[in-house]
Amino acid sequence: MKKIISKIIIILSLTLSTKAFSSDIILKDIRVGISKITTRIVLDFNKNVQYNIFNLRNPYRLVIDTTDFKTKLAPETLYKKGAIRSIRTGTFSPNVSRTVIDLKYPIKIKKVLQYKKDSKKLVIDIIKASKNEHKNQKSIKSDLWSSLERKSKIAQKKELDKISQPIKKSGKPLIILDAGHGGPDAGAIGIGGYYEKRVTLAIAQEVYKTLKATGKFNVGLTRSRDIYIPLRTRYRIAEKRQADFFISIHADKHSKSSVRGMSIYTLSNKASDREAAKLARKENAFDEMISGSSLKNEDDTKGILIDLTQNNVMNSASELTNYLIKVAKYNKIKLLRRPHRFAGFAVLKSPNIPSILIEAGYMSNKYDIKNLNSKNWRKRFANVLTKSLIQYYEKYPLQN
Ligand SMILES: [Zn+2]
Repeated sequence: MKKIISKIIIILSLTLSTKAFSSDIILKDIRVGISKITTRIVLDFNKNVQYNIFNLRNPYRLVIDTTDFKTKLAPETLYKKGAIRSIRTGTFSPNVSRTVIDLKYPIKIKKVLQYKKDSKKLVIDIIKASKNEHKNQKSIKSDLWSSLERKSKIAQKKELDKISQPIKKSGKPLIILDAGHGGPDAGAIGIGGYYEKRVTLAIAQEVYKTLKATGKFNVGLTRSRDIYIPLRTRYRIAEKRQADFFISIHADKHSKSSVRGMSIYTLSNKASDREAAKLARKENAFDEMISGSSLKNEDDTKGILIDLTQNNVMNSASELTNYLIKVAKYNKIKLLRRPHRFAGFAVLKSPNIPSILIEAGYMSNKYDIKNLNSKNWRKRFANVLTKSLIQYYEKYPLQN
């Protein structure tokens, strides 16, 4: 019962926080049908939507961008059928939702149908194809897609400009909190079907409130609703705002359900252990799976490499991590064995701003998931992080 209630609360708070941007389009159902060679995907809306359907590779995916919608469906765990491995969906950019279909093999789009009169269905038939056919598949767009896309880009720029405004510091450190994942990137899906993207947002909002209440900090969020934000954009927001610290909050899964506790990651070219490397790879891949652009290629082409001579930034991150571990221990927040770890997380790659990534707990552990979903625990976590930041800035006051 408790679980159901907290689930309802999460859904409620989600609806509330998205209200200002809500669209009145609802995805009522997703159905998948199989005939001999065809996999049919039916998206059932309450109204007609604009669409842009295209393929991505590495791994093989079909992407269905549509007018932004709300849905109560949780397709991430369903629909393993025909060509489909899994389906993810959520707000990709203002006015646009993205549905990503992970495929078992390369495909081509056989046809796209839209029933406009009473059923408002978008029907997509796909069939198995060669690698080349998958690669060469042209995108299929509805008539008014381009205008929707234009509007979305303008709104996105506006929104980003707004959250990237440098704010008057008045001697207070500016902390940017980054709730991991969002939109079609649900992050880890934990015990009881909880989504990491919702847990991280709830934690970030609690920390935001707690930090603000001290009167000692300026605080910003990279996202305050359920929307996709590319990893690079997240720290660029912090850079534009001239933040003093960037703190990304996550709660991933572990392959062993017994593993639990908080851990803190700082950036390094060389991971502290195999697990940390795997986690960073997974985190970076979440982003690539949704956006379709490779972070590694971007790094290579732009020559962005982590410069470990940026000692100040690295030391600051380590120093805050030390405080955080100390305060967490004192406040009996369960920590992972060797809680300070290192890996190449893309979101931590700002060269100018000290950055840490906190794995608040594991969505795969029954004790951790209870904590992550508990308002009380989130308050304790927020207090621990706030105290650590206060101690850190007492030792290293801002140099103005
Ligand atoms: Zn994560």
